[in-house]
Formats: sequence, C-alpha cells, structure tokens
Amino acid sequence: MPKPAYIGRFAPTPSGYLHFGSLVAALASYLDARSVGGRWLLRMEDLDPPREVPGAQTAILQTLERYGLHWDGELVRQSDRHSEYEALVQRLFDQGLAYACTCSRKQLEGSGGIYPGHCRNAGHPRHDAAIRLRVPELIYRFTDRVQGEYSQHLGREVGDFVIRRRDGLYAYQLAVVLDDAWQGINSVVRGADLLDSTPRQLYLQELLGFSQPRYLHVPLIIQPDGHKLGKSYRSPPLPGDQATPLLIRALRALGQPAPVELADASAEELLQWGARHWDAGLIPRTRNLAESQLR
Ligand code: GLU
Ligand code: ZN
Repeated sequence: MPKPAYIGRFAPTPSGYLHFGSLVAALASYLDARSVGGRWLLRMEDLDPPREVPGAQTAILQTLERYGLHWDGELVRQSDRHSEYEALVQRLFDQGLAYACTCSRKQLEGSGGIYPGHCRNAGHPRHDAAIRLRVPELIYRFTDRVQGEYSQHLGREVGDFVIRRRDGLYAYQLAVVLDDAWQGINSVVRGADLLDSTPRQLYLQELLGFSQPRYLHVPLIIQPDGHKLGKSYRSPPLPGDQATPLLIRALRALGQPAPVELADASAEELLQWGARHWDAGLIPRTRNLAESQLR
C-alpha cells in the first residue's frame, strides 16, 4: 500500500491576533507539509464567541497571506459545525460514554482540576448541565516527533473532562478530534502547550475509531518575564511589513537558520528555501524557548 499523502493543518483560535509564537507553530506545520509536497489546511477554531476578539479572524487570514503562508482549499470554521458536534455529544451521552454534570465551580474547588466524579453515576438529565466524557483508568502514550515519549494516566492526571459546557459551548478536545478526522489530517504540528491535551485526543480517537495522526509539538516562545506568548497574555500582533525578518527569526527558533543572503528575500522565497531544507530533527527538543535568545 502506498503511504497516504501528507495532510496537515493550522488551527488558530481568534481569541487574539497571531503573535511570534503562533508564527513559529504555523511555519513549522506549513514547512513540514510543503517539504513533502503535502497539503496544508486552515481551520478557524472559533468555538468561543465571548472570547473572540472582533476582527481577529480577518487579521489572522491577512497575516498568513502577508507572510506567504498560503493554505489549500477552503477555510473551515468550527462555528459552522455545531450540528456535527451536537450529534456526537448526543451519541456519546446516549451510549453512556458521557454523562451530565451539574457540579458548580464551587463544588469542584480543591480537586486540583481533576474531576472527582460526583455526577458519574447520578443519571442527571442533559438539560442545564455540562457533559463530561468518562475516561478510562489507563495510561495513554505516544511518541512525539520532537518531544519524544509522552504519557498520561487519564483517570489520575486528567479525570472525566467536559465536552460540552453548560452554557452550550463545545470543548476544544471534542471539536479538534472530530475535525482532524473529518479533514483527513494525518500530521499534527502545533505548540507544546497542547502536549498534555494529546492523550485526551488519543482516547477520543480510539473511542470513535479514527486513525491516529503523527504529532510534532514545537517549543513555545517565552517572553523575558517568563510569560508564554499567547492568548492569556497580551502579545503584540505580528507586524504586516516585517514578514522577512520575522520568518528568519522563526526559522532560527525551529533550528533552521537561513543563510544571510536571504535577508532581503521575499516571504515566498524564504518559505521555498525553508521547505527545501526542512529537517524536523533540528527543532530544539524543549517545550519552552526564550524569545530573547533569538534576536
Ligand atoms: N486552536 C488551538 C490553539 O490556537 C490549536 C489547536 C491545535 O492545533 O490542535 O491553541
Ligand atoms: Zn458533577
């Protein structure tokens, strides 16, 4: 059997603009795909309207274009897929694989983020409740292409997790697994902040009979004060007129330094060089990288 062609994706959340850390992740997933002639899809993970920054979706698309990161096919928006998520939640609930949880935030205080299981066998109706997926008392493990072996005991380290919130929002873990499978993604390249989400996603894939993509988690970019660049922290948006120097810096963060002659190249030329020389084995095997080291 021939190997299936590479299909990768970038999946930004419009709760903020793209920042240098998201550029590193986008660039890695783009180059990993293009280096083998693969497809690179774009999915807007707009599951949480209250946390969406107005204009962020448009800004993200413009930045990707400006930086030469042209995607294949039509943009997919998770906000268009609620009926698919709902059908899946209902199926998991009907099968007893998920259950309704009426615990208040206060009731869950002091359990260290691991659900203590109050509602596991309560048989609450779905109405006005969060829906939690039961997790098995098992270790889920995988080999990350950069970070190496990673494992997590789902029962002890995560607990039954929410797949649909009480206010009706669908959880990232549920949507990402369904959409990666639906879009045929077989290689996931993303930031190392999602390493510890991967075992939950492996469990969902197993439960739903989906094949498991390969995973590569790139280092997160950390600011001098120790903050990660990201949603919870106000990161500066990427300047539209600095594509070349910032792509060069992002390549350096990924262990792929571009030759000095490319300092005046266009974004597209740099990306072509990057795809030709891409070696995922050179990516630093660390979860965090200080931005100050890259200047
Ligand atoms: N939407 C997620 C984020 O922006 C990324 C999801 C993923 O790559 O699996 O952090
Ligand atoms: Zn509960």
